[in-house]
Amino acid sequence: MKKIAPLFCYSKYQRLIVCLAAFVLWSCHHNAQPSKNTSHLLGKGNLELAGTTFQLQNEVYEAYLKMKSAAKEDGIELLGVSGYRSFERQKQIWNRKYTRFTQVEGLTPEKAIDKIITYSTIPGTSRHHWGTDLDVIDNGVSATGYLLDPKKYEEKGPFGALKKWMDEHANAFGFYLVYTQNPSRKGFYYEPWHYTYRPLSQPMLKEYMKLHFREIFKNENVLGYEYMSDAFIEKYIQENILDINPLVK
Ligand SMILES: [Zn+2]
Repeated sequence: MKKIAPLFCYSKYQRLIVCLAAFVLWSCHHNAQPSKNTSHLLGKGNLELAGTTFQLQNEVYEAYLKMKSAAKEDGIELLGVSGYRSFERQKQIWNRKYTRFTQVEGLTPEKAIDKIITYSTIPGTSRHHWGTDLDVIDNGVSATGYLLDPKKYEEKGPFGALKKWMDEHANAFGFYLVYTQNPSRKGFYYEPWHYTYRPLSQPMLKEYMKLHFREIFKNENVLGYEYMSDAFIEKYIQENILDINPLVK
């Protein structure tokens, strides 16, 4: 009598095919490009924003308002001065600085880029693109000159009381400093005004790290992109994007 081989009884050849198919599936998934819709990570729309003078994602804005009223009860006039920033806006800032440094100040493209990234981000890489990060001041005290200056947030500075209040209470509302005062931290300088809403920004950072930045800079025609070597981009990612407060990674 003729035996019928059960389905699971594969020949060597069939097993090889199955393994190969499984590998192809795994590898497609593993090397997958980030989902096509990555515009929300780059400041190119697709975020629901709230706010008038500055904007944040709805959930972040609600948390900000709660923190703001709690601060007010303690006599601090917490005020967000900068929230969401679009890719186009960051590109304007970048291209203006790049043009000035290379054409007016005569810096080489590489030196100009190094100079810009001490305080500004390459378009597409600003955390302000996410609608989760904001810069805060104390609107209840008089301060002159450029407000976002670390000296103003020192204990005796005009925003010293705000900083102390934020140190004690911001985390309870989901907000954390990103660019901390840690001498061994690389990347962007200390920014005592810049906070992120961790419940949303932490998962966004994970998604963000799957992006291919070189292609983005090239496709978006960011000035100077052709002078950004792979080593430069890798260093920028490790230092400027990832060397931040470990609590927000
Ligand atoms: Zn900021």
